Amino acid sequence: MFKGILIERDENGYRATLKDIDDSLLPEGDVTVRVAYSSLNYKDGLAITGKSPVVRRFPMIPGVDLAGTVEASSNPDYRVGDSVLLNGWGVGETHWGGLAQKARIKGEWLVHLPSAFSPRQAMAIGTAGYTAMLCVLALERHGITPDKGDILVTGAAGGVGSVAIAVLSKLGYRVVAVSGRMEEADYLNGLGAAEVLGRTEFANPGKPLGKERWAGAVDVVGSHVLANVCATTKYGGVVAACGLAGGMDFPATVAPFILRGVTLAGIDSVMCPRPARIEAWARLARELDISKLDAISRGIGLSEAIAAAPSLLAGQIRGRVVVDVQG
Ligand code: NDP
Repeated sequence: MFKGILIERDENGYRATLKDIDDSLLPEGDVTVRVAYSSLNYKDGLAITGKSPVVRRFPMIPGVDLAGTVEASSNPDYRVGDSVLLNGWGVGETHWGGLAQKARIKGEWLVHLPSAFSPRQAMAIGTAGYTAMLCVLALERHGITPDKGDILVTGAAGGVGSVAIAVLSKLGYRVVAVSGRMEEADYLNGLGAAEVLGRTEFANPGKPLGKERWAGAVDVVGSHVLANVCATTKYGGVVAACGLAGGMDFPATVAPFILRGVTLAGIDSVMCPRPARIEAWARLARELDISKLDAISRGIGLSEAIAAAPSLLAGQIRGRVVVDVQG
């Protein structure tokens, strides 16, 4: 038996409960992992609360992230005792995920834990941090170097935003953070933001084009915020769009793209091909100041994860939440 959060949907409704689960119920897969840590991502909040239909099979163990040790493997790439890491691939949505003490998954979904990180540190980064790095890689791929100008990061006090600020500032970019929580300005400056702007100026419907301000941007919010970010991006700039914390819609015009050559780079972490994942984690190992992870993350036990989900969706949690599934 192992402990895990189980999401059920039946005639009694939609609910997430901490349960003792029999090993024989684990799904198919060629690698069994003793999970040490998972994390709470925005998507896990949606899954646990049922606010959006991210869970597509029931019963489901949520958790798009896990880090732990291989307990059994018939996959030649993974041996018993290996430290491994998993982000996405539909885990926690269509396949049992990381918010449990055990997981059985396909070995091809795993990445060997970079030696720079402990399992806990890897989960303090988690999908949010790895997605932040995918955004940074997209900016670089499109030629956005620090000399080109400021980089805007929206949803700055959240998980993706916090890691994006830490990485971009270490790489020498001047980072401007946008947050609905001005009380977190000291935290954001501590991560490396040179300036912190309030969310209000971005959250309302804006003009098709505004003053050119940013060479690049990492947007986790979507909706009017993304539209306004595109409208104020400099000629030839790049906006990496990865989130929908403010809405799924995109009420924009094509003006920034056809008049200023702005590039909108879509970022997906879930089905991201393996070589790009390995590159992102290798870059995180080199370019994330590990000492900042203490400020970015806090730990909770598995039994606390259900209660934390609504606060996460309400944008009340700062940075990242690491879940100690054995504790
Ligand atoms: P968090 O909840 O940690 O952070 C989201 C942040 O967005 C909040 O902290 C808040 O920042 C801001 N925010 C929240 N609600 C609103 C709102 N209504 N309007 C404007 N801003 C808001 O989530 P993550 O950082 O983990 O994820 C951010 C987004 O990125 C989510 O939508 C998530 O689904 C998406 N995502 C996508 C991935 C992909 O593969 N494409 C992978 C990972 C995440 P502040 O208080 O500073 O304004």
